[in-house]
Amino acid sequence: MTESELPPLREVINSFELRAKKSFGQNFLLDLNLTRRIARIPGDLSKAVVYEVGPGPGGLTRALLMEGAGRVQACEMDKRCIPALAEVSKAFDGRLSVYEGDALKIDEHELLQAKPDEGIHIVSNLPYNVGTMLLIRWLTLKTWTPWWQSLTLMFQKEVAERIVAAPGTKEYGRLSILAQWRSTAKIAMRVPAAAFTPPPKVNSAIIHLKPTQPLDDSIQLKSLELVVEKAFQQRRKMLRSSLKGLSVDPKELLKMAEIEETERAENVSVADFVKLAKCYEQLKTH
Ligand code: SAM
Repeated sequence: MTESELPPLREVINSFELRAKKSFGQNFLLDLNLTRRIARIPGDLSKAVVYEVGPGPGGLTRALLMEGAGRVQACEMDKRCIPALAEVSKAFDGRLSVYEGDALKIDEHELLQAKPDEGIHIVSNLPYNVGTMLLIRWLTLKTWTPWWQSLTLMFQKEVAERIVAAPGTKEYGRLSILAQWRSTAKIAMRVPAAAFTPPPKVNSAIIHLKPTQPLDDSIQLKSLELVVEKAFQQRRKMLRSSLKGLSVDPKELLKMAEIEETERAENVSVADFVKLAKCYEQLKTH
């Protein structure tokens, strides 16, 4: 079968009996125009390996291959999808490889086997809970620059808005800071619930995220996570009170970081959180 002979996705779903299962968080994208628009978000992928988690019946996968991705490595948990994806692989001359398993448990380096000249771009329409867990895993790598060059991921609209949120908004919080400390994140596309089969209860949005130089390379991620966690545990309280759970004097810490004691977590910039983490590390060791 060639690329042009691949049957429409609805036919694939019927013939391989891929009726969407709730337990796998399955909401499929069947409109190839839409998936091709998504596949174009990361830019030129001709020399890249694209890592797609959860290809399902292969709509987005086909789009990535049609848009010229060098190769696609997919990881799918639902074994019913594997034979359907094998046909896609055949139609695209083996540029698609599929691993059957749980993306939360695999070693990505081993799976991807990227050559030094192949950039890795992650493009996925994932179940929302798995997406958030993987995003945090990919954002909290100990070493930066990360092994991936960009992330293009579907999220529930509210979660997407939290990832890109600016200080002073109600969406701003832990996820915004983890995402923006050493990358830039933007909403690349809004996707209405009706675009999925079956439609989920909420609207979605696609986040495109690219790594940047960290605001401060010297701090440890765990200090930043700790400071942010304490500050946002009581987001409306003043920092001098919400930071009490840390092992250092909050007033001394805030003075050292040149942040007002009366400031509230939701108004503190990402750069100031990084500063807080740095001062926390210095005070802790004295
Ligand atoms: N990418 C397809 C599309 O856009 O039509 C399917 C999207 S559907 C929302 C999510 C897919 O992720 C399903 O095929 C599901 O089986 C798969 N999946 C769910 N949890 C997974 C996991 N932990 N590891 C790998 N795949 C998973």
